[in-house]
Amino acid sequence: MAYVVTEACIKCKYTDCVDVCPVSCFYEGENTLAINPDECIDCCACESECPVTAIFADHDCPDDMKWYLEFNAVVTGAKDPGAADTTGWPEHVVAAITGPGFAKWPNIAEKKSPMDSAEEASKEKGKAKDLSVKPADR
Ligand code: SF4
Ligand code: SF4
Repeated sequence: MAYVVTEACIKCKYTDCVDVCPVSCFYEGENTLAINPDECIDCCACESECPVTAIFADHDCPDDMKWYLEFNAVVTGAKDPGAADTTGWPEHVVAAITGPGFAKWPNIAEKKSPMDSAEEASKEKGKAKDLSVKPADR
């Protein structure tokens, strides 16, 4: 079992979750975070910290967000992109992980300021089209 970051985090990155994780298993992309499922110890501390309800336990993940389980594994380096089941993924995300420029995301262990877009984006639905597969620039 592991926890997973889903759509609501996109363009927000409040990073409250990072501060409470005892094993620092969050990784940072350009406009969202992901959890490494091999490193997560299922403590559930992060789930209630997320102000936009982006984090779920894998067994509680809504059906339309289940593809984020595989996505979190790939961008955090827990799964090889070539071995990923990309069923349900947006086309631009599949192209990005199978392309030559794909790079695993860096670890993030400390809270930082949310993105400038956070307040507006926290009310948006259908943000998967905006999901960036690029690592955070840091
Ligand atoms: S707390 Fe912030 S960074 Fe963590 S998942 Fe929620 S929105 Fe994303
Ligand atoms: S469930 Fe615990 S170990 Fe897993 S990501 Fe959340 S805070 Fe970290």
